Amino acid sequence: MNYNKKTVKDIDVKGKKVLLRCDFNVPQDKATGAITDDKRIRAALPTIQYLLDQGAAVIACSHLGKPAATFDSYVKKQAEKGKDPASITREEWEKSLKKLSLAPVAQRLSELLGKDVVMAADVVGPDAQAKAAALQPGQILLLENTRFEKGETKNDPELAKAMASLAEIYVSDAFGAVHRAHASTAGVAAYLPAVSGFLIEKELEIMGGALANPKRPLVAILGGSKVSSKIGVINNLLDIADTIIIGGGMAYTFAKAQGGSVGKSLLESDWLDYCNEMIAKAKDKGVKLLLPEDTLCAREFSADAEPVLCDTMAIPDDMMGMDIGPKTIEAYSQAVKGAGTVIWNGPMGVFEFPAFAEGTRAVAKALADTDAITIIGGGDSAAAVAQLGYADKMTHISTGGGASLEFLEGKELPGVACLLDK
Ligand code: ADP
Ligand code: MG
Repeated sequence: MNYNKKTVKDIDVKGKKVLLRCDFNVPQDKATGAITDDKRIRAALPTIQYLLDQGAAVIACSHLGKPAATFDSYVKKQAEKGKDPASITREEWEKSLKKLSLAPVAQRLSELLGKDVVMAADVVGPDAQAKAAALQPGQILLLENTRFEKGETKNDPELAKAMASLAEIYVSDAFGAVHRAHASTAGVAAYLPAVSGFLIEKELEIMGGALANPKRPLVAILGGSKVSSKIGVINNLLDIADTIIIGGGMAYTFAKAQGGSVGKSLLESDWLDYCNEMIAKAKDKGVKLLLPEDTLCAREFSADAEPVLCDTMAIPDDMMGMDIGPKTIEAYSQAVKGAGTVIWNGPMGVFEFPAFAEGTRAVAKALADTDAITIIGGGDSAAAVAQLGYADKMTHISTGGGASLEFLEGKELPGVACLLDK
């Protein structure tokens, strides 16, 4: 995939109407609907401010949550949850949509920008059309939740065309959504000159750079819960990295595949052969593959379980692996020390339980202490690094959970592929 894409700086936006796809998929309080974390709105500000300063009229859009775009699909969803379809009313459906309105985002955005944000009542309907037509340079309009349109997730060309007709340029800055080929993330780019905003530019520069032309040695640290969710990542990084470090729940499927006993640890029996294939591939390619030598175990999956140190290959039947042990921490920290680039995806243990967070903390510290380029991908890994207080010590923490995983898998990202090459 070509990561070298045109940005807002490569195109003249002065006096132009710019459709800007943001990731305003913010967490909300279930009861009140209040935004509980505005990080994603803040992250969009540099691109928005740049466009406004350049004299563009900004038409921002985003999805929020998973609304049922039609009454029928709402009824179907509720029926799946065990509700009697006959009892479901249109009012109820409309209420569910209202909860996912972007109006609270418009208000927060307005506070952060210190200027009015015009809110449209629809995505491509009469209100959006009228407000987009009237929008002046330096002003900003926010369209309603793109997933209120049933064509959004189907990447319907008619919807994409209708969205494109509101503007003259398309800018994508929603890295968290670029792995989805939806009308607002990819389809619309067929009808307008399409470039990236600063968020996507940074992701492509740093993550793309690390994958395409890394400063070596490239050390990839892979953890998290399951092998099965990281198959593509392991496979792709084996083609690129010099060293691959395995931790987290997936280590036990590797240990079992190598003839170890893993007790009650997380185990995916269907993936044993795959683990051996990966071990063979590493050998073949001359990639160093490190597995945990020792493991901190527990008798039950609980925060107050007593930690017991075991050999990873000989975990007793009544125990489960919860974190990497001290010898492993030492070996992994050493491997990070000499790195030119470190890519980390997946916690080393059940870091949510303080007694089993040390492996993840120590690896985070090793990354914080190295001069190497350090890149964190994956939702839980980013959360772990932030929770442990090391976020500002990393070169880059990817803003997209799912998108960053697909990036590391070497997959083509539809929302990036559709942008103009440099
Ligand atoms: P990411 O979102 O960064 O890609 P994952 O979703 O793959 O990461 O994995 C994160 C989860 O893995 C965490 O909730 C963590 O508790 C869990 N995990 C890590 N080690 C273990 C383990 N030994 N046993 C069970 N779960 C684990
Ligand atoms: Mg996760």
